[in-house]
Amino acid sequence: MPIFNKPAFRGSGEKKRDMPEGLWQKCSGCGEVIHELELKKNLRVCPQCNFHFTLNSQERIESITDPGTFEETEKKIKSVDALEFKGYKDKLAKYQKITGLPEAIVTGRAKIIGHPVVLGVMDFRFLGASMGSVVGEKITRAIELAIEEKSAIIIVSASGGARMHEGILSLMQMAKTSGALALLDRAGLPFISVLTHPTTGGVTASFATLGDIILAEPGCMIGFAGPRVIKETTHQDLPDGFQTAEFMHEHGLVDIIVERRELREKLASILGYLLT
Ligand SMILES: [Zn+2]
Repeated sequence: MPIFNKPAFRGSGEKKRDMPEGLWQKCSGCGEVIHELELKKNLRVCPQCNFHFTLNSQERIESITDPGTFEETEKKIKSVDALEFKGYKDKLAKYQKITGLPEAIVTGRAKIIGHPVVLGVMDFRFLGASMGSVVGEKITRAIELAIEEKSAIIIVSASGGARMHEGILSLMQMAKTSGALALLDRAGLPFISVLTHPTTGGVTASFATLGDIILAEPGCMIGFAGPRVIKETTHQDLPDGFQTAEFMHEHGLVDIIVERRELREKLASILGYLLT
C-alpha cells in the first residue's frame, strides 16, 4: 500500500496516562524514564545505565557527609552588581528565589566518616554555578579556614566558568583562589578536588585542576572551551570521548574516576591516608 494511502496512526487507543511534571525523569544516557523516588534512592544515578544526573548542593552534601555534621560558613555574603551589567540584579534575585541559596557555592565544616574537613560544593542551578566575586571569595575563605584549622579542603565543582556579568572582577577570582591554594600547599595541607558534570571555563583553568588529588564522576564533561569552539578555532577533528572524565583520566589530568555511591568512602580513605 503506498505510504500516503495508509490510515493515520491513532495510537494504541489507551488514554494518555497522567504524568505529573517533575515525578519522572528521562535519562540522558539510555532514554529510560525513571521515577523521582527511585532516582533519589540511587543518589540520582540511573539504575539502568549508570548515568550520573547532576546533584544540587544540598543533595551532594547529604551524600558525602556524616548526618548532622555540616555547619555552613559565610552564608551572608551576596553578589553586588559592580559593573551595572544589564539584567544581572534581576538574575541574581531570580536564582536566589529558585534555589533558596544566596550564591552558587555552599561552604562549611563537615565530617566524612569521622574525618573533619572543610567543604565547598558548587550548585549548577544558580547561574550555571559561574564564578563571580562571591563564589571566588567563599572558596578563598574556605581555604583560609582549612589553613587556620589545619584541615583538608574538598571542593566539589560543577561550573560554566567565570561569570561574564562581573567581567574582570570575575576573572580575578581565578588568581585569588589559586593564590589561596598556594598558601594551603605551604601549610602542608591537602586539597581534594572533585569534578562533576560539567566543570568548564575559568573554574577548570584555576582551582578545580589544582587539587593534590583530583577525582571525577564517570562520564562528566571537563574542559575549558566547549568542543564546538575548539573545533572551529583549530579546524581539527576532535578525538572520541574528548573532554570526558575518562579521557582526562587517560591523559593524566584526573587521578581517579569515582562512582557516586563510592565517593563518600573514597574521600574518607584519602583523608585517612593524608591526615592521620
Ligand atoms: Zn540511563
